[in-house]
Amino acid sequence: MKTHARVVVIGGGAIGTSILYHLAKYGWKDVVLVEKHELTSGSTWMAAGNCSFFHSNYYCTRVNMKSIEIYLGIEEETGQSPGWHTTGSIRTADNPDRMDELGYVYSMNRCLGLNVNWVTPDEIAQLHPMMNVEGLLGGLYWPDDGDVDPSSITQAMALGAKKLDAEVNQHTQVTGLTQKPNSEWVVHTDKGDITCEWVVNAAGLWAPQVAAMAGLEIPSIAGEHTHVLFETIEDVVNRDTMLPLVRDPDRSIYIRQEMDSLILGLYESKVKQWYPEGVPWEYAQGELQPDIDHVADYIEHGLYRFPIMGEHGFKHVTVGPITYTPNGDPLVGPAYPLKNYFLACGYSFGITQAGGIGHYIAGWIMNGEPEIDLWSVDSRRYGSYANWAYNHEKIEDTYPRLYSTIFPNEWRDAARPNRTSPIYEYQKAAGAAFGEYYGWECPNYFTDEASDRDETPSWRRNNAFQHVDRECKHVMNHAGLLDLTRFAKTRISGPGAEQWLNKMTCQKVPVTEGRIALCPMLDGNGAFKSDMTITKMAEGEYFCVTASVGKRHDQHWMMLNLPADGSVQMEDLTYKQGCFIIAGPRARDLLAKAAYGDVSNEALPFSTSKELYVGRVKCRVNRMNYVGELGYEIFHPIESQISVFKILMEAGAEFELKMFGMYAMDSMRLEKGYLAWKSEMNVHHSPLETNVDWTVKWDKDFSGKQALEKIKAEGVKLQLVCLDVAAEDSDPWGYNPIFNGSERVGMTSSGGYGHRLEKSIALGYVPPELADPGTKLEVEVLGKKLPAQVVAMPLYDPKNERMKA
Ligand SMILES: Cc1cc2nc3c(=O)[nH]c(=O)nc-3n(C[C@H](O)[C@H](O)[C@H](O)COP(=O)(O)OP(=O)(O)OC[C@H]3O[C@@H](n4cnc5c(N)ncnc54)[C@H](O)[C@@H]3O)c2cc1C
Repeated sequence: MKTHARVVVIGGGAIGTSILYHLAKYGWKDVVLVEKHELTSGSTWMAAGNCSFFHSNYYCTRVNMKSIEIYLGIEEETGQSPGWHTTGSIRTADNPDRMDELGYVYSMNRCLGLNVNWVTPDEIAQLHPMMNVEGLLGGLYWPDDGDVDPSSITQAMALGAKKLDAEVNQHTQVTGLTQKPNSEWVVHTDKGDITCEWVVNAAGLWAPQVAAMAGLEIPSIAGEHTHVLFETIEDVVNRDTMLPLVRDPDRSIYIRQEMDSLILGLYESKVKQWYPEGVPWEYAQGELQPDIDHVADYIEHGLYRFPIMGEHGFKHVTVGPITYTPNGDPLVGPAYPLKNYFLACGYSFGITQAGGIGHYIAGWIMNGEPEIDLWSVDSRRYGSYANWAYNHEKIEDTYPRLYSTIFPNEWRDAARPNRTSPIYEYQKAAGAAFGEYYGWECPNYFTDEASDRDETPSWRRNNAFQHVDRECKHVMNHAGLLDLTRFAKTRISGPGAEQWLNKMTCQKVPVTEGRIALCPMLDGNGAFKSDMTITKMAEGEYFCVTASVGKRHDQHWMMLNLPADGSVQMEDLTYKQGCFIIAGPRARDLLAKAAYGDVSNEALPFSTSKELYVGRVKCRVNRMNYVGELGYEIFHPIESQISVFKILMEAGAEFELKMFGMYAMDSMRLEKGYLAWKSEMNVHHSPLETNVDWTVKWDKDFSGKQALEKIKAEGVKLQLVCLDVAAEDSDPWGYNPIFNGSERVGMTSSGGYGHRLEKSIALGYVPPELADPGTKLEVEVLGKKLPAQVVAMPLYDPKNERMKA
């Protein structure tokens, strides 16, 4: 075994082996995999091997597509067959909400150019003659889906890696990890130590223990999963072609052909957690005890859809452990707050994703940036609230819902609340319908109608619509208060602070005390890494605010880039300070009444900041907001939040001050064309394609400049536009294909209803030649093409007169 390597991958399941293979394939030969037993010894060896394009997330669908491409090519490269069968797959719907979900998936898949078709119940019956299609409304059919043999793909990738000089050590257990002061890792194993630059935790069922070796707590717990193989079915034997995989999510089951019979897999209503406090190290390749009573209802569901199975006995019942995270998606990427420690674990559908994620993670490690935006699986999407106990509670809800209808606006009650603003009880009393954002309870909207406090999840306009409408119009005409306590806030200080921040952002950091600047941070490709507002508080002292969900991501990026000479200090203020937004034409009158000091336009112009006493509390007030009205952000000590709130609400009574929620904020930011992090601003887009190209200051050096210069010289391929969409009752949500006639020319990045303008709006990227206002295009929403027109941005208050009033 090598004692030094560039990367050590811990775990020889499908995921770890794929990462090793791709690192070697792309040129890093000095890479080692360590497996405590034999390859595939965790969940991999017993997986059913279903490999489909389906995923509710656009980028995860891209991972699945990449996997299938890799599996189809692996035999030629390694000589080892992956055991691939092209069978096609069907996902059915027996209710209108599910049809809407399929409509969303259909349109999103068309953004990717995937081969996906609508099928009627009759067509489903033709594709799978053993299926009872009673009660179905329709389905989607992917003709190119299939299945693989999980062990074969793992062995093939290991073979491929070894051919490229990568080292695979079986029967070698990692027992500890130490990081040296120079950031190198020492991987301790029962066969000796390996010193390396990078560690990748792909330890599957044991990933939490391997994470703990580096001081991390990650939310991943195993649950038992059952599938049943039936005795030989003559009707299957007599077929010339293979039967498609069928997913009947409304019955929480999947069925596929296995040799001369069928497999029925199921996700029952009660998860059986398996060694939630840590899987024993000794476990390897063992089946768990079946509990037929526990899954009997779902076997019934299977027999209802596939009556032929009722005529055959069980040949084998497989029960095996699969890892589950709080939302069922894996934990991938750089592990906060460490350097050179990657996570690649928490996989529930890891066979489908192994090939692709190996490719993308290898690229991420080697190039410093992922080739596609992997935020939806990035482990930093969770904060410290997502600990073991949180996940232990949460997967009780997540597991039975793995096949539930996907909605863009469903807020489950499980494992909540976690983080609340001090005014939480006041928000509740005012009729808040809460959503959870990075663990924080945030009102989505307020209502006096008790029945509407639970939002009806839907792809169409729902019971929240009228309340959001009222809130937006109220903010437009009077004054509203939004609680954004959850903002991520960082204080950057020290003699090197200005110079360093100027390197980190393409914008010029404010030079005058009390000035605020919108400061995008770019990655090495010139694309958006983060988006920050930076306020200069004093000489050598800056206050940086970013999206709450990006807290770990953004702070990790800054932390890893701090100068080694100690000239810059970083302090997290997120949990020390709250933030209220007051916005609307009466906002200044309100502030003047509630605060001491001059708040006139001359004393506190747009994009400036100053300290003011709001009542008895010293606050930092920034004349800035995200909704496009006259407005202020009021940052205050968290312990004084209730005092600030009461003062504002009392002073605001005269100006009809009312609280508003996240949905109204999002509607208003769309009308203003303000970009959202990870929607418009992600690793695929640079400021040059958007309406924030004015933030790029070419006369200074900054991270990503070289790449951005290249993009500028070559000319942008896409341009951000705002589209006025002729939607009826379902607005675009993002990932909608944009068509010019029959040609797909772009994709929306976000969308919704602009209540102040009473228009359905989408933001999206199209080629520059189609970006002129007046261009007529179409946006596909839930499978239906809708007329759309490019409109000048911003749609609302184009001269910013209201905001700068
Ligand atoms: C019954 C069943 C059916 C399934 N069906 C499907 C399906 O149809 N499609 C699909 O996509 N997915 C399916 N899955 C899920 C899939 O099997 C997993 O998502 C996938 O195998 C996870 O792979 P992994 O490499 O992350 O982890 P694992 O397969 O668990 O591999 C982790 C490896 O790390 C090693 N390891 C751990 N700790 C250490 C250490 N300290 N030192 C050295 N080595 C260590 C282990 O020995 C193990 O070999 C199924 C799973 C089960 C149980």
